[in-house]
Amino acid sequence: MAMMKNPIVKLQCSDYGYDCTYSSSDRNISIVINNFQKHMSDKHFIDYSYETVLQFILRKQ
Ligand SMILES: [Zn+2]
Repeated sequence: MAMMKNPIVKLQCSDYGYDCTYSSSDRNISIVINNFQKHMSDKHFIDYSYETVLQFILRKQ
């Protein structure tokens, strides 16, 4: 049985109204979310929960 590759998941700040070029992308959704959460906290001082960021991704699909 062939291995199914996960699609690349991508989140970028500019999609959410930020004047920022940061984007987080990976095939592992947890990595995308963790990196995006860290960036949001470090650079924009906003703490999004894991669930909230997950909803961002799910709504795009
Ligand atoms: Zn940003």
